[in-house]
Amino acid sequence: MTATEPHIPAAASRPTQAPLDAAAFRAAGHALIDWIADYRETIHERAVAHLPEPGAIRAMLPARAPEFGEPIARILGDLDSVVMKGIVHWQHPGWFAYFPANSSYESILGELASAGLGVQGMLWSTSPACTEVETHVLDWLVHAMGLPARFLSTGAGGGALQDTASSAALVAIVAARERATRFASDAHGLAAGGRAVCCYTSDQAHSSIEKAARIAGIGREFVRLIPVDGQGRMRVDLLAAEVERDRALGHLPAFVSATVGTTGVNAIDSVPEIAEICRAHDLWLHVDAAMSGTAALCDEFRFVNAGAEHADSWCFNPHKWMPVNFDCDVLWVADRAALVRALSVLPEYLRNAATESGKVIDYRDWQVPLGRRFRALKLWFVLRSFGLEGLRALVRSHVSMARTLAERVRAHPSLELVVEPCLNLVAIAHKGGDESTQRLIDAANRDGRFFVSHCRFHGRLVLRVSIGALATTPAHVEAFTEHLLAEAARA
Ligand SMILES: *Cc1c(COP(=O)(O)O)cnc(C)c1O
Repeated sequence: MTATEPHIPAAASRPTQAPLDAAAFRAAGHALIDWIADYRETIHERAVAHLPEPGAIRAMLPARAPEFGEPIARILGDLDSVVMKGIVHWQHPGWFAYFPANSSYESILGELASAGLGVQGMLWSTSPACTEVETHVLDWLVHAMGLPARFLSTGAGGGALQDTASSAALVAIVAARERATRFASDAHGLAAGGRAVCCYTSDQAHSSIEKAARIAGIGREFVRLIPVDGQGRMRVDLLAAEVERDRALGHLPAFVSATVGTTGVNAIDSVPEIAEICRAHDLWLHVDAAMSGTAALCDEFRFVNAGAEHADSWCFNPHKWMPVNFDCDVLWVADRAALVRALSVLPEYLRNAATESGKVIDYRDWQVPLGRRFRALKLWFVLRSFGLEGLRALVRSHVSMARTLAERVRAHPSLELVVEPCLNLVAIAHKGGDESTQRLIDAANRDGRFFVSHCRFHGRLVLRVSIGALATTPAHVEAFTEHLLAEAARA
């Protein structure tokens, strides 16, 4: 239906479409899989991010939901005629904006299997495999990424999948707040103790840290955003000074979030030095490695793990650089009892023998919602189908493409690297200043073959090239580099 075509209500006599039976589901499912594969095979022919006029997609939709069921074939047809008119192609090989949000065929299959099973995994007993596959796969990842043994479920710690790094930060802050107030805020809320709980992160940290702190009842004023050095790393001397100052004022410093791979320029905080301050002041240390954590699969990039052995919690998003489709964040904690105590509420209707036995994990106590889906399946499918070597090869190829681009930028007379790139993100500025950089960003995105985004770093406009889409090959980055360097001369 087009914008100009009025919605005609269906006549009451029209037969209602019966819900799909198994045979119809098979046919439609096969057609949808074909549609997805066709999309992926031809995605490079599309403009990465061509935006319609605001409201254009809604204008194609009828004003009210249909009274009578429509044939599934027509609904699938509208994926092309409606949905595709407003899709930004995050899986495109020229996707260099924001961060990679990879969705591999393997993870799509895992996602489909999860929907097909349709189980709830809030308790071990509501679907034991949902809990045990997750616990086991997250233990696999501790080994695969060379993370400290304290995060293994076989000790006092363990991992749980969250929807996002934002949720991981929220539950970590709540646990930190409870630990700092000796669980007084658990019983008495924010009235407990009368001391302001303080959180610390760098001014380059992701906005989700501040948001989590605000949701946890810690006012924006008590989220201390610590300045960074020239490479974007938290100034640890200023962190120490701020913690001392808060103590002197009678506040209660509780939580530090170190960033491994800042959103702007992919800076890596010095976690070992931050950890020393956390130890001295008994602060919860959270590490946000949302995008860059995946690099720990490769020995040569294990610098991202520095200091992890001191972290109370550590999270990364397989839904970014690892090819697991959104949503999938891994949160590990060193002391699961602290997290569970902060989040557990046990109503009568959830009591069961397995929980009482103490032999099982009930993941409802590790997250904000009660219900949870079988999110581990897609991670399990990806880890098994790619194998660790397959995943390492992917990470290495992206880092190598980023390095090649960085060297060309370094050698160009009008461009400069804003920070020394350490992994898959290249932060570039035009020496002519912000206006030239803006012209370069516009030019990079102009013909629809590529899409880059921007940030500000120490006040300066930066063109970010984030390399990590599954479909991106060295040839794509080479073509982008030629395009960028040619435009740089004009900007
Ligand atoms: C992307 C990102 C986040 C937010 O991720 P969500 O999973 O969308 O909440 C947080 N921190 C960093 C460093 C990120 O790169």
